[in-house]
Amino acid sequence: MSRNNVAIVGAGPAGLMAAEVLSAAGCAVTVYERMPTPARRFLMAGVGGLNLTHSEAFDAFATRYREAAPMLRPALDAFGPRDMRAWADGLGADTFVGSSGRVFPRAMKASPLLRAWLVRLEGRGVRLLTRHDWRGWDGDALIFDMPDGPRRVRSDATVLALGGASWPRLGSDGSWTGPLSEAGIAVAPLVPSNCGILIPWSAPMARFAGTPLKTVALSFGGETVRGEAVVTRAGLEGGAVYALSPLLRGAVAAGTTVPLAVDLKPGLTAEALAARLAKARKGDSLSNVLRKAARLDPVAVAILREGGEVPRDPAALAARIKAVPLPVTGIAGLARAISTAGGVRFGALDTSLMLRARPGVFVAGEMLDWEAPTGGYLLQASFATGAWAARGALDRLSTRSASRPTP
Ligand SMILES: Cc1cc2nc3c(=O)[nH]c(=O)nc-3n(C[C@H](O)[C@H](O)[C@H](O)COP(=O)(O)OP(=O)(O)OC[C@H]3O[C@@H](n4cnc5c(N)ncnc54)[C@H](O)[C@@H]3O)c2cc1C
Repeated sequence: MSRNNVAIVGAGPAGLMAAEVLSAAGCAVTVYERMPTPARRFLMAGVGGLNLTHSEAFDAFATRYREAAPMLRPALDAFGPRDMRAWADGLGADTFVGSSGRVFPRAMKASPLLRAWLVRLEGRGVRLLTRHDWRGWDGDALIFDMPDGPRRVRSDATVLALGGASWPRLGSDGSWTGPLSEAGIAVAPLVPSNCGILIPWSAPMARFAGTPLKTVALSFGGETVRGEAVVTRAGLEGGAVYALSPLLRGAVAAGTTVPLAVDLKPGLTAEALAARLAKARKGDSLSNVLRKAARLDPVAVAILREGGEVPRDPAALAARIKAVPLPVTGIAGLARAISTAGGVRFGALDTSLMLRARPGVFVAGEMLDWEAPTGGYLLQASFATGAWAARGALDRLSTRSASRPTP
């Protein structure tokens, strides 16, 4: 009997995971990728240590996907954080749980894991065809733009795993929204998620671009996030900023400037800080008070000065250090966002992630309409939906072959 022939478009984590499940079930799998090499964004994630997943309790874990959680739940139930660790361990990555509960491979990078993964896939007969740029459909055929002209590909099932639109130089630029929209498939606009924010700094801040604010607490819209922020030329980025980015993105969408409160001393109460400041000697300059009594480093002092005239009275100064008001005028673009919000709407898909308008075509990974904070949730959902879409394709292929009349 001839094997089912499955096309996977996009060789990121979601596409490669789909290839793994489909090839293990005996399908003839071809992965098409537009870049010269696969999984460039996965490799880039490895630069920051490759946070594969998170060890928190599963119910709490699932809530990180916000309103998309119910739609992602079947995929996460079938391939959850434990499965992710077992999968990575099985490829020799040997994972561990960091102090924040985040899970990393011991090597703290993606390349050894990716190498082992590609060897496994090749061993199962998965073909990887790079420099294949998918442009849409011609009837039932997938169309790829090739250096020597367009190429048509037919398959028994297809998994689209084309990523979002952040860090487009790594391959995923959201160009797939064109053919999908033309086919009448609902796509929510692709917007930055886990991204930096724009703050109109005064000129002296330029010298602090790239400097981390080690532990701060950022507050906006009733939410406070403690963590690291990094000064950029245009504003702030870093973990604490990313966590607030969905809220801030919504607030600035209409072009309004909104206030962010920065607590430069989250480990001290305002009272304790005021008591320290009150002990400063009478003749001390403000700079000395901030450096010695408040123990603020130069970047923190610069941020404090961005918040307007700095009060001298200890209680007022403590209150200001605990809530420096900074104007946020916008969010940074997709070019440096960690991930993308928006994508193929779940209403356009059935529960197996198959496009209702294109039976036999499944969608996985970040091109789906979900967003999540950093912490391993992005890769986890990309892997889980890759595996889930593959299972959907397998179910469909087996139902179709069972219903085929015997000659
Ligand atoms: C700097 C950075 C650090 C990150 N760190 C982490 C982390 O530590 N933990 C975590 O959970 N997540 C992290 N992420 C996010 C994570 O990398 C993504 O969520 C994940 O890679 C998404 O997987 P995907 O397979 O859906 O898409 P992608 O990884 O984007 O893969 C999609 C693939 O499709 C290809 N493609 C796109 N369009 C076409 C086309 N038209 N034709 C053919 N091929 C096409 C692309 O070239 C790409 O190879 C990070 C992201 C960045 C940018």
